[in-house]
Amino acid sequence: MCPSYRATGDEQHSTRGRARLLWEMLAGDLRSEGFRSEAVREALDLCLSCKACKTECPVAVDMAGYKAEFLAHHYEGRLHPLQHYIFGYADKLARWGSLAPWLTNAILTGPLTSPLIKYIAGVARERELPKLAAKSFVATRTNHDDPFALIFLEPSCASVFKDELPELFPNDPRARKMREQVWLLADWLSAKAPGFGAGRLNGAHILIHGHCHHKAVFGGPKKEIALLREAGATVEPIEAGCCGMAGPFGFEADKFEVSKKIADHGLLAAVKGAAPTTIIVADGFSCREQILQLGHTRALHFAEVLAQTCGCRG
Ligand code: SF4
Repeated sequence: MCPSYRATGDEQHSTRGRARLLWEMLAGDLRSEGFRSEAVREALDLCLSCKACKTECPVAVDMAGYKAEFLAHHYEGRLHPLQHYIFGYADKLARWGSLAPWLTNAILTGPLTSPLIKYIAGVARERELPKLAAKSFVATRTNHDDPFALIFLEPSCASVFKDELPELFPNDPRARKMREQVWLLADWLSAKAPGFGAGRLNGAHILIHGHCHHKAVFGGPKKEIALLREAGATVEPIEAGCCGMAGPFGFEADKFEVSKKIADHGLLAAVKGAAPTTIIVADGFSCREQILQLGHTRALHFAEVLAQTCGCRG
């Protein structure tokens, strides 16, 4: 079910309600307002772009795609709100910040600077700003002509190339080629190194939370579960939908309560009820951040758990 509808119970924030308003904008009462419609913008504002409707709805509505298209037209030729630029250019800001990560982290967490940054960026006071790693990761592969495998750890990054790129460039053979080269780590290990880590996690108990895009585009963490079970762990999937963080969504001040409500549906109850020795696995960066900030528990990526089976951590 659409997580924003589940949290608010408001038809306007359901997939059906949003689809109805989009139709009104294109062919009904809102036609005169067109893409400048505030009613449509408001209805789409609480959409987490989780893509659940793309696979769960019987008519496969891609509301995440419609939202991106709508916002592109809505702000065409005029300025976006400041926070759109801050989150949109987060990668570039992080690149600048990584020149002196200790200084950046001191600013992000400082008692005076942190509230100021949150205020400017429209981030909820209750949120902690994520810190930069002490050492940045730099891809070293430079030969882009070989059909090498692109192995992703973050499902939402992989879904960009698997799902969104071919939709943006349906007639470009490079988009199709790239799509074929995209793998999630567990899928690649299952295909190329079956039995990896077999028997090395005997006795471990794991709760695993699937990222929305992992479920919508790659069928969910089935391969992760199979590999962890082969490694000897008892693995239980957490019965929950979206974690409620969804990139910047859960950080935004006006969405914090909705984000918390969504997380409360299944995910946080499972995390808080877990034994101290239980390992919580979540492959999504947003999911791990939500579990840390609201569940006060450090979840691990599947790769971090698997690294324990081969002594190749760090
Ligand atoms: S993408 Fe997710 S939040 Fe948005 S309408 Fe679809 S199910 Fe709801």
